[in-house]
Amino acid sequence: MDKYIINKNSQSNGDHEVHNVTKGCNYLPQSQNQVEVGNFSNCQQAVAKAKSNWPTNRINGCYWCSRACHTS
Ligand SMILES: [Zn+2]
Repeated sequence: MDKYIINKNSQSNGDHEVHNVTKGCNYLPQSQNQVEVGNFSNCQQAVAKAKSNWPTNRINGCYWCSRACHTS
C-alpha cells in the first residue's frame, strides 16, 4: 500500500494532481498544499477516492509518480 496525496492547488490546465508520497516524487506540492487521500495499492484507486471526495474538481494522476493514471 502506498500513501497518496492530492495537490490543493490546480495545475495550469485545471487538474488537481494525485501524487504517491510513499514512492516519492520530485514534483510534490509544498506540504501546506498537500491533502491526504489515503493508502491504496494503486493510483487508480487513489484517483477514484479523490474524485469521490472532491467530485467537482478535475483530478488526474501525476505524470512523474503516477503515470498509469496520468490522462491529461
Ligand atoms: Zn508526483
